[in-house]
Amino acid sequence: MGSSYLSIRMHASRSGVHLTGAEDLVPPSAIDDCARLLLQRALQHHPDSLKLSVDPVSTDEMVTGTLPDLHLAQVEDVATARQRAMAALIGAGVTQRAAATALQALSAGAAPGGRVMRGAMLIDAHTGERCEPDRTRGVRVSHFGWDAKARNDCRELLRHHGLDHFRTFEALAIAAKVLAADGILAELCWSDDPDYTTGYVASRHGGYLRLPYLKEAGDPLGGRAFFFSPGTDLQTLIAFLEQTPFLISAVGGACPEIS
Ligand code: AMP
Repeated sequence: MGSSYLSIRMHASRSGVHLTGAEDLVPPSAIDDCARLLLQRALQHHPDSLKLSVDPVSTDEMVTGTLPDLHLAQVEDVATARQRAMAALIGAGVTQRAAATALQALSAGAAPGGRVMRGAMLIDAHTGERCEPDRTRGVRVSHFGWDAKARNDCRELLRHHGLDHFRTFEALAIAAKVLAADGILAELCWSDDPDYTTGYVASRHGGYLRLPYLKEAGDPLGGRAFFFSPGTDLQTLIAFLEQTPFLISAVGGACPEIS
């Protein structure tokens, strides 16, 4: 068994409320630096509880993948952005009904009581049925990270487009792992951060379509929806998304802005 990587994960909270989390997959020689960065990031949020876990990862079970190509949509308002999201989802094989279910759930708060989920909805791309086992927790993509070159290349690519924001960086990584899962057709995301209104649709053929204004400024709701093909084995899918180590080893390209 090869075990030349470590999975490192940070989670910080205050009064039981999640503040921030981040993770990476690194060789043992990089663990000190990585741990220091994650701790610094957590402490900026003044947590009263901070967890840092490190687990060995067998390279035998590790999957490597490439980031989706980055497409930048130019939209001016929420209605247009959501129409574009709907069209991109339909282009990826999601029915209008399933796409509408996701957009409505994210707008209204997808967890019980209209709150924000901690993870993602799992939506049948044909019927629109929500299939995540727990509507509060959802499905959490975890155990992913970057090799050093891919990390630098991605930073460079984002910087070049004026997008060097940790949210974009991490969203690309999550999208890469989601799109690498058997049975997944597409992902829809916008943040629950009231000050961050950009979101995206990711799909295998359409890449990562970055959409400004997927919600109004000040709106505290957001989340993620993963659309799967009917017949997908959900246990296998969830195990892959949550537990299989996934190393990003190459970036995709960036495509010119599309209006
Ligand atoms: P963020 O982009 O970090 O603002 O996250 C937006 C929403 O996506 C959160 O409110 C969660 O519902 C969901 N989310 C965040 N991180 C993950 C993850 N690792 N896996 C699945 N869903 C996530």
